[in-house]
Amino acid sequence: MSTLADVVVIGAGVHGATVAYHLAKAGAGRVIVVDKAGVAGGPTAKSGAMLRPIFTEAPYIQLVMRSIEMLEHWDDVVGGDAGFVERGFLRITRNFSEADLGGNLDLMKSLGAEFEILGLDALKTRVPDAEFVGDELGLWLPRSGFADPVLTTRTLARAAQRRGVEIWEGTQVTGLLARDSRISGVQTDRELIHTRTVVNCAGPWSAQLAAGIGVELPIETHRGGTSLFQRPEALPVGSPIFSDGVHQVYFREVNDHVLRAAHFGWTKHQVDPDTYDETISSEQYLGLRDDLRKRFRSMRRSVYAGGFSAIYDMTPDAHPIIGNVGGIDGFWCNCGWSGNGFASAAAVGEPIVDLMQGKTPGVDLSLFAWPRPPSTKIRPDAHWVRR
Ligand SMILES: Cc1cc2nc3c(=O)[nH]c(=O)nc-3n(C[C@H](O)[C@H](O)[C@H](O)COP(=O)(O)OP(=O)(O)OC[C@H]3O[C@@H](n4cnc5c(N)ncnc54)[C@H](O)[C@@H]3O)c2cc1C
Repeated sequence: MSTLADVVVIGAGVHGATVAYHLAKAGAGRVIVVDKAGVAGGPTAKSGAMLRPIFTEAPYIQLVMRSIEMLEHWDDVVGGDAGFVERGFLRITRNFSEADLGGNLDLMKSLGAEFEILGLDALKTRVPDAEFVGDELGLWLPRSGFADPVLTTRTLARAAQRRGVEIWEGTQVTGLLARDSRISGVQTDRELIHTRTVVNCAGPWSAQLAAGIGVELPIETHRGGTSLFQRPEALPVGSPIFSDGVHQVYFREVNDHVLRAAHFGWTKHQVDPDTYDETISSEQYLGLRDDLRKRFRSMRRSVYAGGFSAIYDMTPDAHPIIGNVGGIDGFWCNCGWSGNGFASAAAVGEPIVDLMQGKTPGVDLSLFAWPRPPSTKIRPDAHWVRR
């Protein structure tokens, strides 16, 4: 059995969903999204889903700001509820260097990102539960927050479906087909799809799929732990995201009773995305709790409420791989987001579709081409791996 499609999107995580949504808006013909699990059935479901435009490169700042704008008006723009709450984001830091902050304040300001610098007294007033030492500062971003990653992905996917996109859930891509350096089809365990255009949004599985047509993508799968804690009384409901750059740990609310916390960055542990251990070890949980206790008095009496491990699709410089790759016509990638992909997702589908349709995108994605432009710098937080 076989069928014909104009575009096949592999993966229905938040990146497959955004590409499908923007393809549908652009009238790209018959689009089929294939996911071996289902919509938001992979790593996206475990995302912290936080959005804050702290970066050293313009495209990230532009994409995150645009995604926040979309989420602020999600029901009008996409349709439905993405669970977005604009609580604000507080980063505690010793200084505002790119290496320590992971952002360039001048660039952020020039692109219109809203933020306020807090001195020690302001920090103490804003977070009475926390302890600070002499040289610490705060960066407050009022228009930041977090969404529900599953609702965000589902609403994008359902909006794409309403515009005619087909989503084949529970269907596995078993191989890509290419002839004369051009995509010719996608083999699935349901049927063969003849197509001249594929978008690889398979996250940690992207490299394996690309290898099937002789394209090498430098994406490794790394595992990291998230812990849940009962909310201490001293941290009121509706608190912002607390991000402690000194101890490299953050937490945010899951609901009125539970907080989720994780270290920055990712672990150096490489795993197999199909068989990794989804639990959190006591060593990881205790390490997290110790770092939270260094800052927040109430976390010294915090009650552990469970946890999990999740996987990150990491590239060597921590930038995603976006564009036509490997000298294969019709082979597009949007993967390798390196633990950082939720915040840009809603908006990035549009410039990707522009590129696919030969238009000049509103956000310049050339930084994310593979191979990289020679001037590309490593994302500063790629150096923050400590565990
Ligand atoms: C714990 C955690 C916290 C995070 N927190 C944040 C955050 O606060 N802010 C932020 O910006 N980012 C965050 N991220 C990163 C962000 O969540 C990811 O970058 C993003 O969700 C990746 O989405 P994706 O669609 O690229 O990939 P995935 O979610 O990995 O989706 C890939 C999909 O491809 C499918 N697939 C794979 N192979 C095949 C095949 N052969 N056939 C069919 N289907 C296939 C899978 O089933 C899967 O559904 C976090 C990530 C994790 C794990």
